Amino acid sequence: MSEKLLMHTCCAICASEVTVAMKAGYDPIAFFSNPNIYPEDEYIRRRDAMRLSAKKNDILLFEDHYDRNDWLKNTSPFANEPEGGKRCALCFALRLRRTADFAAKKGINKFTTTLSASPYKDEVLIREIGRKIAEEKGLIFIDPIIGRDKKTAWDQAMKMTREEGYYRQRYCGCEYSIRPSANKG
Ligand code: SF4
Repeated sequence: MSEKLLMHTCCAICASEVTVAMKAGYDPIAFFSNPNIYPEDEYIRRRDAMRLSAKKNDILLFEDHYDRNDWLKNTSPFANEPEGGKRCALCFALRLRRTADFAAKKGINKFTTTLSASPYKDEVLIREIGRKIAEEKGLIFIDPIIGRDKKTAWDQAMKMTREEGYYRQRYCGCEYSIRPSANKG
């Protein structure tokens, strides 16, 4: 029997290929923890797509509280940062810390995140943050991209998204990312 791995999932698109890859070595359990997503109807769309993905991949899915106040309190001082700057590092850390806490509560000693799969996100920074939080909590962070070709994995994620008809977002998630020049995920 494979070891349990708590998998923070940001959206069904990033989760699609990562779930299959993680299933090769672990027993992944999804954790949807994304209080960054705004507005609420967008949150519901992405959450529902993740429910569909979990069902199709036959994995368990836990859903975190949609705690927008806490997310805003932490990130609003960096509202004007460009995407990929300090606000995003805080946003990654907040979601990964919640994931690590939930893993510890469930007695799971490994966690990962599908955030690393997105071509719009810095997987090296996410790995550093994940490892730091893991060290603080006495857990192990698994990088879902390390040792694999990120572009090939993303191409496969897009193929799976088209085939399964998952919802595709038009911006990263928070209100600050709803800008004409913003990235899409
Ligand atoms: S742009 Fe994306 S990663 Fe950055 S703070 Fe907003 S939701 Fe988080």
